[in-house]
Amino acid sequence: MRELVCHAYRHVRYYRELFDSSSFHPSDFRSLSDLQKIPTSTKQDLQILPPEKLVDRRYKIDKLVCRRTTGSTGIPFKVRCSWFEDRLLSTYALQTWSLFGFGLGTRMAKVKIVGQGSDLPETMRVLSRLGIFGMRMIHSLQEPDVVCRALREYRPDVIVGYPGFLSHLAADLDESDREAINPRFLIAGGETMTPSMRRQIEAGFGARVYESYGSHEFHLIAAECPETGLLHVNERTVLLEVLNGDGEVGSGQGGETVITALHSFTQPFIRFRLGDWVERGPAPCPCGLPWATLKRVEGRKVDWIKLPGGDSIPPERLCMALSMTMPWIKQYQIIQENRESLLVKVLPFEPPRQSEIEQLSRALSEFVKGELRCSYEFVDHIPLGPAGKFQLCRSACH
Ligand SMILES: [Zn+2]
Repeated sequence: MRELVCHAYRHVRYYRELFDSSSFHPSDFRSLSDLQKIPTSTKQDLQILPPEKLVDRRYKIDKLVCRRTTGSTGIPFKVRCSWFEDRLLSTYALQTWSLFGFGLGTRMAKVKIVGQGSDLPETMRVLSRLGIFGMRMIHSLQEPDVVCRALREYRPDVIVGYPGFLSHLAADLDESDREAINPRFLIAGGETMTPSMRRQIEAGFGARVYESYGSHEFHLIAAECPETGLLHVNERTVLLEVLNGDGEVGSGQGGETVITALHSFTQPFIRFRLGDWVERGPAPCPCGLPWATLKRVEGRKVDWIKLPGGDSIPPERLCMALSMTMPWIKQYQIIQENRESLLVKVLPFEPPRQSEIEQLSRALSEFVKGELRCSYEFVDHIPLGPAGKFQLCRSACH
């Protein structure tokens, strides 16, 4: 942590200016009790800055691994790291997941939006070719029966995906699918898993599901303890604080996650306010492992869009179009008040050009395939929800 703080001050303009403006000097940081002297940052602080201010100035930006996030706050954001950091974090994540029963020859199917971030990492490709570890990406924006066929064909030991998608898929599976797919366990992450999603996934696939909590900035943050059901904080790679106001909360209390990425020197994240609400559990975990724990994570909550006929569609396809292809959009929110129509609130960096408005309108009509009336509204502010949390996609239809 000391090394990271000194490094950021020396090589990253954003941190140099931040520390100077708050009269903090890296030499003030001697032990963890000095943590609160370091100023925190939010995604909004970083999102408006050019990459040159956020990345170690000795690197060439276009040579780095880059993940563009759709953003749980509706704010698209780019996270950069070196090739080595990317592999290191993947390896640590696998090591943490190994508690679930990963081993030689384990075959993993990742049901996710293919094309988002680094897909099949190089190390995985090599391990997969050597037969040490198998991995297949299955695009989650395909129709559920296409995903089901792909799973039946691959017969994975482990299925990884969003709990919302996995629970919808689980509800459609029959006995023959269950027997054909027959995973040993599943890992759900990327959004909040409700107890009913958990029940549905476990009943549908006939296997246990473990919760995994991560983000593009930090990779794996915490993963479920197979013995206690608490989440082990991945303290090999992150320094996690849970703050209520400016004070650290104790076991059994809730607050906002503020995280430092201990191995990210290329684009450092120091005391970064991720904005998720979590409840602290006992530290260390009663299972005997030395890690601190979380009892509950209220990460992003994504509602699905309901169609008049009763079907639901995940909002990710629209999120992808808005985040990946329209860099003029600063923030957005998808709102469904009734089964007939959909509204997208858009906060642009600058007033959009006619061609940009046409692109937005095309993306919207493609997304709803004529089944909903679609409109957009340009706004200069998108308010937070009642719990003080931003909701990317909100549907009033249940
Ligand atoms: Zn444990």
